[in-house]
Amino acid sequence: MSDLRKNLLAEAKRIVIKIGSKVLVDESSKGVNSAFIKKLAQSVAILQNAGKEIAIVSSGAVGTGMTKLGYPKKPEHIADKQVCAAIGQIDLMHAYRNAFEKEKIIVGQILLSAEDFRDRGRYKNLQNVMDSALKHKVIPIINENDSVAVAEIKVGDNDKLSSDVALFWNADLLLLFTDEDGLFDSNPKKNPNARLLNFVPEITKEVMSLAGKSGDAGSAVSTGGMASKLEAVKAVTFSGCNAFLANGTKVLPHEVLLENATGTLFLGNAKKLGSRKKWLSFVSTPKGSITIDDGGVNAIRKKNASVLPVGISSVSGHFNVKDLIDVQDLNGNKIARGVSRFDSENLRKVARLKNQKEAIHKNDLVVF
Ligand code: GLU
Repeated sequence: MSDLRKNLLAEAKRIVIKIGSKVLVDESSKGVNSAFIKKLAQSVAILQNAGKEIAIVSSGAVGTGMTKLGYPKKPEHIADKQVCAAIGQIDLMHAYRNAFEKEKIIVGQILLSAEDFRDRGRYKNLQNVMDSALKHKVIPIINENDSVAVAEIKVGDNDKLSSDVALFWNADLLLLFTDEDGLFDSNPKKNPNARLLNFVPEITKEVMSLAGKSGDAGSAVSTGGMASKLEAVKAVTFSGCNAFLANGTKVLPHEVLLENATGTLFLGNAKKLGSRKKWLSFVSTPKGSITIDDGGVNAIRKKNASVLPVGISSVSGHFNVKDLIDVQDLNGNKIARGVSRFDSENLRKVARLKNQKEAIHKNDLVVF
């Protein structure tokens, strides 16, 4: 097993590195942890020299900006949070530029919001920008455009942002750096016998349930806890990308790839999804959802069928024709995602009726 783990990591060529706020905010000064960024730059230089392609998803804008305005924890009010992000983002980028310049690497800032992923045209533009950065050996430092993003256009948290980036960029590996050593079978802060999982071959319900047990639900500076990390891992592994969860205060990226660093490796699904299916399944944020009955679930799961109005028991949210929507079963489990051929108003009218055109055509549907 450990050879497989080593090979999978060593062979990864395109890597997205996500650094959480807990690593980027200096514990004593509460400003940018420049000492960490300096080590990160050296580590990325080693990987770039080894022919790896790297993009960084960096949190820490709100977490460092809030210190300057005297907030001990993230402010509640969205506009206050946004102004903290506007302040912190400059300090962060300043630190990245200084540290990477010493390694003779040029960095560029890319700020994104959910709209950049929802619209397939913008999504493709983003792919082009990333390709150009790669061509010029520029390391993109990506964050959510927090200072303008409000709830409806937010990606959510940077764990989700990092999995979206890994998916649209067709990365081989998503490295998630937080302040935990990896995924444990129980909360390591409470249970001294908690066991670190080195290798997780499949994201099962049991694995997802470990998020609650790990007891990590964000902090004064960070947003996502272990649950959002596992959601990100689930998204990328479903599409064939491997993921690695490690402690950014102890481990650096080159150590994960080239040395046998501590952390949890999550194995990507052997079946890689094509770009459109990836976009459908995880990258874009759905505008609404429908609930389908057991007959409908059976048809899409076993018969590879389209979603028909006759099987729809309820419709929620407001969406237009061609918007992406979630499909759930009667117990509220998300089972698929696809592009609606109706707007929400008209879909409500035809729900439960026979002999209607498909609500979601099978070609526009990804079943989980
Ligand atoms: N984009 C936020 C920031 O830079 C972080 C969100 C998160 O922690 O997930 O502060």
